[in-house]
Amino acid sequence: MTDFTYDGLPGRIVFGAGAAHTRLAGELDLLGAQRILLIATDTEGDLATRLCTPFADRIVSTFSHVRPHVPVEVAELARKVATDSGADLVLSVGGGSTTGTAKAVALTTRLPVVAIPTTYAGSEVTPVWGMTDHGRKTTGTDGRVLPKTVVYDPDLTVSLPVELSVASALNAVAHCVEAFWAPRRSPVSSAVAEDGIRHLAAGLDTLAASPTVTPAREELLLGAYLAGSAFAVAGSGLHHKICHVLGGAFDLPHAQTHAIVLPYVLAYNAPNATEATNRISRALGRPDTVTALRELGAGLGGPAGLRELGVTEADIDTVVGDITAIAPADNPTPVTDEGVRSILRGAWAGSDSVETAR
Ligand code: NAD
Repeated sequence: MTDFTYDGLPGRIVFGAGAAHTRLAGELDLLGAQRILLIATDTEGDLATRLCTPFADRIVSTFSHVRPHVPVEVAELARKVATDSGADLVLSVGGGSTTGTAKAVALTTRLPVVAIPTTYAGSEVTPVWGMTDHGRKTTGTDGRVLPKTVVYDPDLTVSLPVELSVASALNAVAHCVEAFWAPRRSPVSSAVAEDGIRHLAAGLDTLAASPTVTPAREELLLGAYLAGSAFAVAGSGLHHKICHVLGGAFDLPHAQTHAIVLPYVLAYNAPNATEATNRISRALGRPDTVTALRELGAGLGGPAGLRELGVTEADIDTVVGDITAIAPADNPTPVTDEGVRSILRGAWAGSDSVETAR
């Protein structure tokens, strides 16, 4: 592809082991933050409190009522807390659900966000917000929700259980893979995506043996940053549309859903996406990309099929039409109801049925 339009995104990135402890206060000073709303779940509460100790007097309120996929009522509650406390900045410490809550606040209040991610979701470098209302997920793009500064500290991800780490890292791999055929792909997003896969695969390779060792976590977090950056500028394609509909319809865990579905979408697109497949293969160092993807997280736990997440076989037909309706028109393999059904059947059964998705 030689014709492209590329919109670079602003944002300051600070990356390094220990950075959340040593660099955060200085970054908040640079933004002139005096009245900070802290958003963190109870799970990340102790960590967030420790990180905020040097500037505890500037925390005017703490919001911990974070829920997956940002229900609108949670967004409204968080916005009220921000307004009532007179906050001038939102600091989020946590995974994509926490970052998403901070973004929901920024969307209406225009407050700047500083994000400290503790998973590999990548939301912290995208201008995309998402909220759910009665099982329907709505997303949108707005530059106001893009965090002004992101502090990436691999040490904070050591506590992420291996199974969740794998799912979250495969979610990041999905951002990279999809960036090759997403609507706003460009040579920049493809280069970033390829390198992202390389780092994520290296991190996954050593994760099982050394989940608490910083180098593996550094590889994964760096890969997650690159993945989020590629996704942010390239946009979302068939894989993300499928996961978006599944997540909203059946209230599925985000990272695990991505991890399960990705090989089936790759198998569906691969015959018509030669350059993407070659680059994924080069990054993974393996000729068969679908098998390599499936083996990346194998043996490290996690569900193999959607049925293990509580989806029934009958559920598949209820979402096929919704997915086909929003699938990108220029997906490498034309998207039909039958094609989507075959991807979902494969992903539902898991294990050896990748071939059926072609
Ligand atoms: P999450 O934020 O819901 O976190 C999953 C679980 O992990 C939670 O229980 C959390 O408390 C726990 N956790 C987080 N960090 C931990 C750590 N270091 N140690 C131990 N436990 C930890 O899940 P997620 O996968 O990070 O994010 C998913 C959400 O992010 C979804 O709503 C998804 O739509 C959104 N997302 C948005 C974008 C975007 O660009 N807008 C991109 C990716 C994901």
